[in-house]
Amino acid sequence: MTFSAAVLTLYPEMFPGPLGMSLAGRALTDGAWSLDAVHIRDFATDRHRTVDDTPAGGGAGMVLRADIVARAVDHATVLHPANPVIAMTPRGAPLTQARIRELASGPGVTILCGRFEGFDERLFEARPAIEQVSLGDIVLSGGEPAAIALLDACIRLLPGVMGAPSSGTEESFEDGLLEYPHYTRPQQWEGRTIPEVLRSGDHAKIAAWRKRQAEIDTRLRRPDLWERHTGARDQPASGARREKKDQVE
Ligand code: SAH
Repeated sequence: MTFSAAVLTLYPEMFPGPLGMSLAGRALTDGAWSLDAVHIRDFATDRHRTVDDTPAGGGAGMVLRADIVARAVDHATVLHPANPVIAMTPRGAPLTQARIRELASGPGVTILCGRFEGFDERLFEARPAIEQVSLGDIVLSGGEPAAIALLDACIRLLPGVMGAPSSGTEESFEDGLLEYPHYTRPQQWEGRTIPEVLRSGDHAKIAAWRKRQAEIDTRLRRPDLWERHTGARDQPASGARREKKDQVE
């Protein structure tokens, strides 16, 4: 099945951009996903193809008009009726790997990219199905790089896109932890060696070391993740998650 990506943007020429290369580019050529870049300006109604106006109440910048953007969203919804619609905005819920997994296992995604000061809020009131999503606590100049990041994260999880199936599940966040650190040749570099255990060939010992490192690094670097991880372990909730953990422990 082809994962259908639709992107609503003022810069359709930014797509596929980096998604036309490497893993995602090959997957696009192979038909694992499809891309429909929709120009928001095509839904303007005046001669100058205006999409924005000054902010009500004053202030800097311009705001994307709800009427024009809604027309573009409605058009994409007709073409891709099964896709969830995601608006990229720093005011949205931070994107997580869990949400990426859900999206990647679905029919596709329609992504709305903002520019300027963002969207007229009435868009979200009138189209409550639009999910507001943030790439993180940073401010980009437009939603396009966020859309590219979201799509990249989905595409690598599509069936057949990545080589080894385990490379999709042993990553950071998949178990609520950061991934363990990696090493490769040369074995000696600037006086530093690869941790001895990784050269032991003892797979059980290596797995235990990696698990421990993942825990240490998560605790030190991401106390927020660590707290959630240990909290989740103290209160076993969903059967599936618990089973997986029991196998590891
Ligand atoms: N005035 C807005 C920022 C607008 S930035 C605010 O302060 O909340 C212009 C556009 O870039 C946004 O509409 C959004 O589509 C995109 N953008 C900026 N930062 C983003 C982020 N962290 N995540 C997702 N999209 C972002």
